[in-house]
Amino acid sequence: MKDRKGTAAKAVPFRSWADERILKERSLIHLHRGSPLRIALVYPNTYEVGMANLGFQTVYRLFNEHPNVICERVFALVPMNEIRSLESGSLLESFDLIGFSLSFEMDIPHLIRCLKTGRLSPLARDRTSKDPLVFIGGVVAGLNPSPLLPFVDGLLVGEAEDIIGPMAEIMLTHRPRYRNRRRRLQALAELEGIYIPSLHTRVTRHRLSTLEPFPAYTGILTPYSHFEDLFVIEVSRGCMRNCRFCAAQKVYAPYRFRSTDSVLETIAKYNPGTHRIGLEGAGISDYPGLESLVGSLVETGYSVNLSSIRADRITNPLVKYLEKGGLKTFAMAPEAGNQELRDRMGKRLFDEAILTAADRLRNSSINTLKLYFIIGFPGETDADVESVIDLIGSIYKCFVDRPHRGLKISINAFIPKPFTEMQWAPMNTEKELRRKRKIIRQGISRYPSIQWSTRRAAEEVFQGLLSVGDARMSEVLLSMEEGVNWKQAMKEKEVDWKFLFREREHHDMPWSFIKSDIPESDLYDSYLKNRAP
Ligand code: SF4
Repeated sequence: MKDRKGTAAKAVPFRSWADERILKERSLIHLHRGSPLRIALVYPNTYEVGMANLGFQTVYRLFNEHPNVICERVFALVPMNEIRSLESGSLLESFDLIGFSLSFEMDIPHLIRCLKTGRLSPLARDRTSKDPLVFIGGVVAGLNPSPLLPFVDGLLVGEAEDIIGPMAEIMLTHRPRYRNRRRRLQALAELEGIYIPSLHTRVTRHRLSTLEPFPAYTGILTPYSHFEDLFVIEVSRGCMRNCRFCAAQKVYAPYRFRSTDSVLETIAKYNPGTHRIGLEGAGISDYPGLESLVGSLVETGYSVNLSSIRADRITNPLVKYLEKGGLKTFAMAPEAGNQELRDRMGKRLFDEAILTAADRLRNSSINTLKLYFIIGFPGETDADVESVIDLIGSIYKCFVDRPHRGLKISINAFIPKPFTEMQWAPMNTEKELRRKRKIIRQGISRYPSIQWSTRRAAEEVFQGLLSVGDARMSEVLLSMEEGVNWKQAMKEKEVDWKFLFREREHHDMPWSFIKSDIPESDLYDSYLKNRAP
């Protein structure tokens, strides 16, 4: 177990570790101790990562708004490997419902370990009426939950805010849990967005008709979060662009946004006391009135952080406000080094816009520009890879004009995602990914003020397998839990993973039981139409 700085953390007893965190938290959430319904909300990673997750924070707050519910947090990666709730130190088996908030495929193995370490059988079929129900929500549950199905009693597919209350009511109506497992599942199965593998064959993704009644914000501030003491508030959901590789655009469609007044009101009402505000939303660049919202906040004395902004939406007034609010790092995602490949990705963004944005940022006190690129998009040539070096070079020359200024480069593999038209596309092999990264890394080595952030190619390939793999991946996950690495586990279970590197055929996908808004045949036509030559 490593701490935030990556150094080995000292072995501390769970209670001291938990108390240290709770003591530093600032929150307006009231816990109804002694409530008849006890829920464990699990984040399958560290406290630091989980507390930076707005979905996890929102679900925790909403469950605790119910007067007869107490929801406690559990983190899967903790010192001493003790899976207990943060608030009361309870074991998983003592709760009525265990809800996993799963945002990232690579946390799936942690989820299985968490159940096992928490003294529950990982497989749903081995659990009994004495055991809590195990549900999974979060973006992964709505993409490809196939590898997860043997481990869960139910999935929450889609947006959770207005399902949480009815779920709690159903659980409260059918008590005690020892006699009502089946009844609870049958009643939960009636809710839109709930998928019970033992009862359903299909599920409709649940969406809020309007965001306004359900503000999403950081309910608990903590200096231990990756977003240290930052009050994050969601300003929009979905995205009005149509990048071909992007799952967020598909699963959170349509693009919706909150009014500026409601955002300001939420901050005024629920901010537990920080001057640092983070505005979140995949399509935040297209938020109407972004400039005036940031301006109002900065004029009120807040400093404002934004998730990545499209280069062609960076205006001089916006930069001035962010600068005044003390922002030091800015993120942009050119994705590709040249216009042609960017067009094929569906990312309508011109080189001139990227360089104009870099120039605008140069005239500010922002010190670090973080740039995200994708490698391995189908049809990518070596010239495309080299164009990343050229674009980084041009941005560097424009932006890095003084000491203490620099670029952070993040290179990520293209991973095919369910519900996108690229779900049939091949992924690059580990070898190809390593080779392309090496080309870029060598190409930019002449620039001194560049930080390089990257992932291991083997990890990206495994993520690809979890992203588009079928039910056989659950066997692999179980073997991994016995200490076998994923490649060995794939071999032992005789799962051919080379399918990931080939274009896949148009037939039922493992996630076809989730009703798609766009008919699969339309997505496939679009894939063929835009396929690389
Ligand atoms: S702009 Fe970002 S969020 Fe929107 S579709 Fe493209 S990658 Fe997805």
